[in-house]
Amino acid sequence: MPRMTTDIFDGLHYHLLLGERVVVGDRMLPHNYFSDHCDIVLGFATNSFAPFKKRKHTMWILLIFNYNLPPDQRFQKDNILCAGIIPSPKKPWDADSFIYPLIQELLELVDGVSTYDSLSSSLFALHAYVITGFGDIPAVSMLMHMKGHNGSRPCRMCEIQGIGIPDLQNRTLYMLLSRRDHPKPMDVVEYHPVRLLLRSHDSFMAQAKSVLSAPTEIQREELSKAYGIKGVPLLSALGSLRFPQSFPYDFMHLIWENLIPNLVLFWSGNYKGMDEGQPYVLPPDMWQVVGATSAKATKMIPLSFGVPIPNPAKDSSYFTSSTWSVWSLFIAPTMLQRRFPDECYYQHFCSLVRILNLCLQFKISKEEINEIESGICEWVVDYERCVPPFISKKSKVGSIHAPSLYYQHKPEWLPACLLKIHALLHIPDQIRWMGPCWTTWAFPIERQCGYFQCIIHSRLNPYANMSQHLTDLSQLRQVKILYNLTDEELGKPPKHISLQTKRLEDCKSRPGTFTLV
Ligand SMILES: [Zn+2]
Repeated sequence: MPRMTTDIFDGLHYHLLLGERVVVGDRMLPHNYFSDHCDIVLGFATNSFAPFKKRKHTMWILLIFNYNLPPDQRFQKDNILCAGIIPSPKKPWDADSFIYPLIQELLELVDGVSTYDSLSSSLFALHAYVITGFGDIPAVSMLMHMKGHNGSRPCRMCEIQGIGIPDLQNRTLYMLLSRRDHPKPMDVVEYHPVRLLLRSHDSFMAQAKSVLSAPTEIQREELSKAYGIKGVPLLSALGSLRFPQSFPYDFMHLIWENLIPNLVLFWSGNYKGMDEGQPYVLPPDMWQVVGATSAKATKMIPLSFGVPIPNPAKDSSYFTSSTWSVWSLFIAPTMLQRRFPDECYYQHFCSLVRILNLCLQFKISKEEINEIESGICEWVVDYERCVPPFISKKSKVGSIHAPSLYYQHKPEWLPACLLKIHALLHIPDQIRWMGPCWTTWAFPIERQCGYFQCIIHSRLNPYANMSQHLTDLSQLRQVKILYNLTDEELGKPPKHISLQTKRLEDCKSRPGTFTLV
């Protein structure tokens, strides 16, 4: 294993595959994964999106990423393959029936497809292997046949038991480490944040098969609820995937679609009606000042570094993952300083920003992954306000030990302990297995969804319209490659480069020639 993690190829999963024989069904092929320099590493992703604005209908896209391309090219629009569309209006009852043709083609690629090598003027067997699947939590749960919040073990990475609010008909289960103040703490009273019982590929598949082979429907439902698994996923036909290690939690959705917006709801006193008189709520006037100053601050930043940030106190609905990331990483640490009635909330937020900055590095050392692990464990423990023995002794950063943070060990406050908070604990292992967070985050998927929204021009036949567009686009790309044509020769207008992009490229091409005065 390399000392620095820079890409998916530095992950433990890829390195383990290098030493394994390729398996297709019951057949073991005479070569290892990626033993040929032409073998291709693929990633599979899916996500839902609304094809029309102000409509509740959602459709699902199936995307393939080619990891053999350099990092700055693999997520570009022209290099992403759209393998299929699952039409709306609802979430598919049986997603496997839609991805079945794709799995058939991927199995052919595992077996090897006869391909012409123009350099050696010979034919060779081209192999491609999918080694990761990603998307938001509902999308990946669907692919993995996870039961989600209805199962007693909602986390796909570990076997932690979910726990409900006592004496309430709400069936949602929440994830917290310490249940010592809960009237029904279940089997385990306290979970250690770095010693969670992780699911392994063998245990996952054994549980999935036992659910599938249960003799009665009632027993099947009971097993399914106990394991949090509904059955054997079709994707398990691909021997290059490991369940659940090949399906990391998406960093973008965890942090900028959930965690940061939820913290803002806490601070502004709007989190599920639970915030009255709480020490983390900023005085209303103060929050308005923070919001207005944040919006003003971005007007001083060159447009090349990102779009202006809306006012989080007034226009939080206009925020996107991208703007939440800019606000939380660069603006909020300054704007929130000395604003909280209790300073420990500011310290807690700054420790999160420090962890996020470590996670976002292009190169992450083993020591930094360990630092991320101890930092996240402390952050989650402090979020729940756990007891000192749970704090990692190797940690460099001391726990805040505030008298109360967000969950406060009150059972009626369980809605503060969502799966998304617990999932943070798995980020360090995900980096070890699959490389830096950017290799499997959902930014390219979201951008592709936005692109698909733009290409649908027929409201009457949106899927036929979209399918025709994608077919035309693929044919044009093949024509371009076959005849070595440029975009202009193909009739496409030349790419427009904005003034801001030109300035940024100019800055990049002349490093060290600018001096701050
Ligand atoms: Zn877990």
